[in-house]
Amino acid sequence: RGTLYLVATPIGNLEDITYRAVRVLSEADWIAAEDTRQTRKLLAHCNIEGARLVSYHEHNKRASGPELIRRLQAGESVALVSDAGVPAISDPGRELVRDAAEVGIPVVPVPGANAALSALIVSGLPTERFLFVGFLPREKKRLAEELEALRRTEATIVCYESPHRIEKTIGAMLDAWGNRPVALARELTKRHEEVFRGSLSEAARHLKVHPPLGEYVIVAGGAGTGGNEPEESGEADWRSWSVAEH
Ligand code: SAM
Repeated sequence: RGTLYLVATPIGNLEDITYRAVRVLSEADWIAAEDTRQTRKLLAHCNIEGARLVSYHEHNKRASGPELIRRLQAGESVALVSDAGVPAISDPGRELVRDAAEVGIPVVPVPGANAALSALIVSGLPTERFLFVGFLPREKKRLAEELEALRRTEATIVCYESPHRIEKTIGAMLDAWGNRPVALARELTKRHEEVFRGSLSEAARHLKVHPPLGEYVIVAGGAGTGGNEPEESGEADWRSWSVAEH
């Protein structure tokens, strides 16, 4: 029986690949990738040659999953990677893990970069308890319902968002929750990494002045962190800095 490895890959800065990930990717019989072209670039960067890639993504997982399980049952090892970060976190993989576990195949995590945790730890908001909600619904009514359901949650709330929708989402959070503290973490580990920290209303103003660009994680304070009155701390604390280039 083979082993299914869930291998984290960088979320921007390629230096964030781990020694163990490089070894597991080099040794695996198969690398199952969300986007084989993207993964080939990473393998080339890590000087991994001769890897056998198969595609496993949202649209072929019903066909590709059972085939991977057959290979695992035949004793071959499979390393699953997504385009960025940890597989199975707002990325394909969950069903493959379930199916592998069901037939007794060992599933091994190879941890590494993850956007949600990276954003949480730089947010300055409480980290003792947090709730990761992935991508919030796009549709206005469903978004409002979801935010209402989260309103009493005391844990810090972490979600992923696209630059096209972030202004609407921040506005909806302000409507649903009042003016809580928030951090917007953008392009983490990349050249244009930036973290905005302020209140939701300051974040809304900030996004008007600085049109959103790149990949974002929203980290919002839980219930009880905002107070009823909108608190205005004056200038928002906008920090930006550069990190090592890839
Ligand atoms: N599995 C990945 C992980 O472990 O981080 C997340 C994949 S999800 C499809 C992609 C979303 O993660 C993006 O829309 C964005 O919200 C967030 N994200 C990914 N990379 C990021 C980065 N470098 N900076 C900020 N957010 C990022």
